[in-house]
Amino acid sequence: MFLKRIVTLAFLLLNIADAKSISKCNIAIDIGHSPKSQGAYSATGIGEYNFNKVFAINLYKHLQNKHIGVVFVNPREEELSLLDRSRIANATKATFFLSIHHDSVNKKYLAKNTKLNTMYSNKYKGYSLFVSKKNENYFKSLLLARTIAKKLKSTQLTPSIHHMLNDEGENKVLLDNSGVFLYDNLVVLKNNKIPAVLLEVGVIVNQDEEKKLQDLNYINWYSNIVAKSLEESCKNLDLI
Ligand SMILES: [Zn+2]
Repeated sequence: MFLKRIVTLAFLLLNIADAKSISKCNIAIDIGHSPKSQGAYSATGIGEYNFNKVFAINLYKHLQNKHIGVVFVNPREEELSLLDRSRIANATKATFFLSIHHDSVNKKYLAKNTKLNTMYSNKYKGYSLFVSKKNENYFKSLLLARTIAKKLKSTQLTPSIHHMLNDEGENKVLLDNSGVFLYDNLVVLKNNKIPAVLLEVGVIVNQDEEKKLQDLNYINWYSNIVAKSLEESCKNLDLI
């Protein structure tokens, strides 16, 4: 069912590539990864890109309802390097850049589901937000990340702390307990000239969290919280 919806939404995505809005505030949305390079795989074996795309399209709809402009960095689902993504985002001169991802965990926590022939871990769940001090607009990036984190934490959502563990590829600095991490060398953030944040929506190798992140009502609710955070951040810059 989820995959069928993705195919339908793919058509929609191609038709909203150049969406414009009356607001002075514009958001450049980067849908993490691509159809060919899916990123992580969920507990049931679905590629991360599919989750990223569905979430991003829902976010787009909420932003449009709030009269906030959206430019997709990768509307045609092509293969783009992280550097390309930041170059395209810079060219849009958007107010904020938001990269949408879904999370996995270090492979040492993964176990095999022999029935589905997939890997899963129920050890960690929750969202994470990343900013880079090397971004030219670090403080605005941090402001946006904290606004999103605060709103997410005020709901039933919880930040995931696994990125601060002493595991390979992790060791990130947790800036505050609302789930904002420092990741200075993350290419898509550090090469951006506009304020840039990466959101890991949830941990898709977690069986319970994956189920939620496939539920369109849940996605709709969740993406609206992110849209409200972007709206608030735009208001703080007097752009709405
Ligand atoms: Zn990813």
